Amino acid sequence: MISLEEDDLFPDDDKCSLWLKVLKSKYFKEQLSQIVYEFPFKRSLYIDYRQVSKVGKAGITLADEILENPGKVIEDIYDTIEHNHLIILPENKKFKNSINIRFCNILKKTKMRDLRDLHVNRIVSIDAIIIRSTEVRPTIREAVFRCKAGHFTTEAQAINKFIEPDCCAAEGCTFKKLDLMPKRSHFVNMQKLKIQETGEGLKSGQQPQTLDVYATDDLTDRLNPGDRVTLIGIVRSQQRIAHGEKSVVFDLFMELSAIEREEEDFEDIPIDSAAEKKIKEIARSGRALEMITSSIAPSIYGHTEIKKAIALQLFGGVLKENEDGTICRAAIHVFLIGDPGTAKSAIIRAAAKLAARGNFATMTTSSGPGLTGAVSRDEDNRWVVDAGILSLSDMGLLALDEIDKAEDSDRQALYEAMQEGTVTIHKASIHRMLKARCALLGAANPKHERFDPFADIADQFNMKPAFLSRWDLIFIVQDNPNKEEDMKIAIHISKTHHVGQCKAAKREEEIEESEEEKSVTCEILPVLLRQYISYAQKNISPVLTEQATKYLNEYYTKTRAEATEGKPVPLTARAHETAIRLSEAIARIRLSQNIELIDAKEAIQIFDACIRKVATDPKSGSLDAGRIGSGTSVTKLNIIKAVKHEIEIEPGISHRTLLEKLAEHTSLNGTSDPIIDISSINSAIDELLKKEIYQNRVGHYKVV
Ligand SMILES: [Zn+2]
Repeated sequence: MISLEEDDLFPDDDKCSLWLKVLKSKYFKEQLSQIVYEFPFKRSLYIDYRQVSKVGKAGITLADEILENPGKVIEDIYDTIEHNHLIILPENKKFKNSINIRFCNILKKTKMRDLRDLHVNRIVSIDAIIIRSTEVRPTIREAVFRCKAGHFTTEAQAINKFIEPDCCAAEGCTFKKLDLMPKRSHFVNMQKLKIQETGEGLKSGQQPQTLDVYATDDLTDRLNPGDRVTLIGIVRSQQRIAHGEKSVVFDLFMELSAIEREEEDFEDIPIDSAAEKKIKEIARSGRALEMITSSIAPSIYGHTEIKKAIALQLFGGVLKENEDGTICRAAIHVFLIGDPGTAKSAIIRAAAKLAARGNFATMTTSSGPGLTGAVSRDEDNRWVVDAGILSLSDMGLLALDEIDKAEDSDRQALYEAMQEGTVTIHKASIHRMLKARCALLGAANPKHERFDPFADIADQFNMKPAFLSRWDLIFIVQDNPNKEEDMKIAIHISKTHHVGQCKAAKREEEIEESEEEKSVTCEILPVLLRQYISYAQKNISPVLTEQATKYLNEYYTKTRAEATEGKPVPLTARAHETAIRLSEAIARIRLSQNIELIDAKEAIQIFDACIRKVATDPKSGSLDAGRIGSGTSVTKLNIIKAVKHEIEIEPGISHRTLLEKLAEHTSLNGTSDPIIDISSINSAIDELLKKEIYQNRVGHYKVV
């Protein structure tokens, strides 16, 4: 009688002879001998799908089998290697418990949201971002039990569930109660990860899908929250347990087989030849930057300079690695400050939506852990690290609203991300440095409702000067009523609504061809713009030409020379770096591998206009790097000096007398400008109270 089991045996033998052919091919033979030499450091045999399919007829049959039934393939390969003694490990270690069989180079990608029951027990390749990782802990893979009579029973374990045998496996033995023998059992290191889907599909506002992934042995401790990777693994299903009861619903999870595409720096958006043609046409048109600018938040009137800065931010500069291991950041950070109620929030929200890896957060809702990452315990009492929004935006754009509300620790984290491109997590036994190389697009409201052009900027927005100095471009958005401008805004808003109404009513023919109506629609649609950005980042890494270098250097030295004795420092070296980054982005938009003179000129035009608005001291009229954080501004220093001087002359002077005395001064800052406002005097007193003066009684000051 031939039983079913025996029937299965023939194809198995068949498979083993096929695998023997494949494993004896050059590619796999080399890998096997490497394992012999490098064990235990190398302890995974990678079954490369493409290499397998290259080995004649046998390879083609087996390649199909890898996709269909990877679990069975793993058993077949173990059998083939053991029966044919293809590897002898040191100390005669059991091959099966020492070497992992892994699959790689599975070409066809599966989207996480498309995973269904048909994928269960099959191998898939998925693009994802790691959003959570646990500590690495040993987990039992093969448990050995002993009964009272001393028989041993071996039970293979599921990756996430402990399986106990019903009774002793020895023939005739009736013992049911068995003891686990940890020393005889086989353990392997394990780490649980949670991944979230990535890709263009998510931009339509869908909730992203997540999946648990189990990484074992040499694949543990390789990935961090925030990493973007392609993972290859076997999909498994497990019954969900709700309130202690088994549910009818099954959850999917993945047993990780291989990690591919680590360190991918740009979003790989599929671009067809038609899109590529359009992108090249726009790049050649000579108005690429203008077209992109007009496609950013077109429903918001004006703010062209800000939108232009965002355009440059989306394309970014060139990431440079220095020989000493430090990096020059590629990210361009843009900061919008000013009156509440202006379009700041709407603009940054639109930009985050437009970027392929764009995220939006408000500092009031996403503080601390939300920003940098969180450490907590999971259901198995293991430490887990969840990625914060800074890591999730790595090599992307993070729009952050209400930065003025940030706590000190958050600001510290932002500062590190802006400068180093990392966030550091220190909690309990967890010390991690996660990648956070994102371009920041921040918005902040002033402490006292309206922006005060005369008061210190860092003070007004509740931030340290060093933090302020890390922004490449700072824009002041003020709400100043102006009849002509207001009319333009009104027209723009009504046109936006008109176009929207026509589209809703399917009366597109009524949308006029007027300039105004054109301006409320995108010149480049978001999908194409994302393709454009991806294409440029992937293919273009522009290099400075001699002329451009000369132009940038001259601007820097010329502007620095504006400073004469007693006058403030107009620019710092950081500004020069900003100008270089901006010209890189501009060249990239033109799809040019060289940064030409025109790119440098455009960059300087944008930079100079921005810095003159924000860093010109309204009291002295000179450009002052101190106003945007690079040290204390000269005006502020002068006021501090004057305040201290008055206190020195009259120890114990009252607050009121101090204000009156100072108001008499007409030449505080070396000009005849009489403006000294109370708020700058108060902030000077605050500054002095830190070290140099004290209150001998409330509201009376003395020098220390
Ligand atoms: Zn027994």
